[in-house]
This record gives sequence, structure tokens and C-alpha cells, in this order.
Amino acid sequence: MAYAWNLVSRPKGSPTMENFAFTKMPDRTLRDGEIRVANSFFSVDPYMRPRMDEGDSYIPPFDLHAPMTGAAVGRVIETRTDRFKIGDRVSHFKGWRDVATLAAEDASALPEGDLKDEYFLDVLGTIGMTAYFGLFDVAEAKPGDVVFVSAGAGAVGSLVVQIAKLRGMTVIASAGGSQKCEFVRTLGADRVIDYKSPGPFEEKLRAAAPSGLDVYFDNVGGEQLDAAIGVAKRNARFAICGMIGMYNSDAPIGFSNLFNLISKRLQIRGFINMDFMARRGECMAQMGYWVSEGLIESHYTTFDGIENGPEAFFSLFSGGNTGKALVRLAS
Ligand code: NDP
Repeated sequence: MAYAWNLVSRPKGSPTMENFAFTKMPDRTLRDGEIRVANSFFSVDPYMRPRMDEGDSYIPPFDLHAPMTGAAVGRVIETRTDRFKIGDRVSHFKGWRDVATLAAEDASALPEGDLKDEYFLDVLGTIGMTAYFGLFDVAEAKPGDVVFVSAGAGAVGSLVVQIAKLRGMTVIASAGGSQKCEFVRTLGADRVIDYKSPGPFEEKLRAAAPSGLDVYFDNVGGEQLDAAIGVAKRNARFAICGMIGMYNSDAPIGFSNLFNLISKRLQIRGFINMDFMARRGECMAQMGYWVSEGLIESHYTTFDGIENGPEAFFSLFSGGNTGKALVRLAS
């Protein structure tokens, strides 16, 4: 018997258990061209919060009273296609469930070998693409740059810190609380700011980057984005990746530094990792090399059991994860 998490109501503010229902999936036989996959891990991601709201985003909203979706990895347990055989390792988008039934063309074959399943939901998946293309293409970061990355202890941020250091940049990162800040230091960040400590964030950023910022990799929006605009050098480049600090709030956003966009000729560009799908191979080759050489490391916070899916998701908004948040379904 397979189980899944359905979204049953749209959250107002922070999501709660009342927005979710744990449901039994109906049994059905496979159709031609389909596979059945026993998921080993599924991913919980901040972008799923805007998907819980109605309305257009870059990805359609979750349907109510239907299994939620998202990235997952697992092994084929039943097949009615020549494309996959039983035991093949695949990634796909039918997460939030333990067993997924899907068209074979919606699954991607994953290599065998000693790469852990987790890697394909992190450094060798879209998280790795986000860090790599966001930093090197969108922000055009180069050796010698002073780079600031927010949510530096998270999935994307922890990779940005590491690859920026590998490419010879000075890295300033923010994170919430002393433990997370210490973790970001172990990743190689030159200076770390605890954004939860008292005092205006802009002052702390200015002290960490007295000569200003060449690049800002934005994961949180709000006060940290405003501060980065204030501390940026002339012609600085901003990669706007995400705004997790604003996903649960309808409050108006206060910005005080916007005139700097003009006076400093700032380049501010939003992006979605999918924009770079055609160049995925380039990123995977580079990230794969760095991982296999031990030059970068993937970090995880793993929640065991499908029943902990919502808890894993909530952790993203309370700072409960370090590195990539994943739900593990089988060891
Ligand atoms: P993370 O693993 O970084 O988890 C989220 C982290 O954000 C938390 O651990 C917490 O860290 C921090 N956070 C939560 N609430 C706040 C807040 N109010 N203010 C400041 N920090 C907060 O998630 P991801 O790495 O997966 O995602 C990071 C960002 O990148 C998100 O905004 C996401 O939407 C975006 N994203 C964009 C993609 C794209 O293609 N554009 C693709 C993937 C992600 P702490 O404890 O340090 O506060």
C-alpha cells in the first residue's frame, strides 16, 4: 500500500499540519509505458511554499486534495517499458509519497556507482545547478570578487560558499544563530554574520565588507537584500535566487536603499535553475569532479519516514535544517 501527502487547504502565513492530509494511494495496475518506483528520498524545498498559494508563479500551484509533487529519487520496482528495468535508479518529480507511479519518459536514469542517492537531490541535482549557474553565470562572479551569500548554511547557500572559495573569491555569508554560523565557517567562509543577532543588518554587513560587495547571491530578500544594495560597490552584480524571508508574509516590504540601483549602476537579475537546463551537463561534470575530489561536500538534514514530510518542510522556515533538507524513506 502506497501513501502520500495531500495539500488540503492553502496556508495563511506559515503552513501548519492542518494544511496537509496523509492519504492512502489507490492501488492500480501499471499501464503500458509506465514504471513504479520505490522512493528512497524526497526533497522538501522553500519554493513549495509559494506553490501552496493560488495564482501563477514559475510553476503551477499544488492542486488541493491531490498528492503533492517535488523532486525524488528511488528504484524501479515494476515496469511496463523497455526504457527501465527493475532495480534501476531514477530521479523524477513525484515526491511526497513512498511509491510513485509515472510515465517512463518522466523519469531520468541515474548512474550506478558510489554516488549516494542524496547527491541527486542536492549537489548533483537542481540545487547544484542553482548554486553553480547563479554564481558564475547570473552574478558573473570571478576570482578576487567579494561575494555575499545569504542563508549560507542552507542547501544552495552552503554550495555557493564552497564553490566561491574554490574559485578564489572572498566570501561573506549570513546564517541564523551561532551554531549555523560556525558551520558556515567550516565550509570556508571568510566572514559570517549572524542575522539573528541584535542590531541593523546593514551595519554588520558593512563591517564585514568595508570595501563593499562585488556580488550578492540572494536567498532571503527583505532586510538582507536592502542591506546588500546599500553595501554594494559600483557595478556590483546581484543574483536573485530566492526570498525565503518573505514567503510566509503578506507584510509590505520596506526598502531604503533603492536609489543605489541607479547611482551604483547595479545589475540585479532573477533566475530559475531550469533556465540553464540545456547546460546541465557542464554543471554536473564540474560539480561531480569537485565532489569526487573531495573539494566540496554535500551536507544534509534528514528526516526519517514519510510521516515526517511536513515537519521536514516546516524546518526550512524555522532554521531547522543545515544543508539540504530531505525525507528518507528507506535506508
Ligand atoms: P535552505 O536549505 O537554505 O533552507 C532555508 C533556510 O533559509 C533556512 O534553513 C534558514 O536558515 C533560512 N531562512 C528561513 N527563514 C528565513 C528568514 N525569515 N530570514 C532569513 N533566513 C531565513 O533552502 P534552499 O537552499 O533550498 O533555498 C534557498 C533559497 O533559494 C530559497 O529562497 C529558495 O526559494 C531559493 N531557491 C531558488 C531556486 C531557483 O532556481 N531560483 C532553486 C532552489 C532554491 P537560517 O537558519 O540560517 O536562518
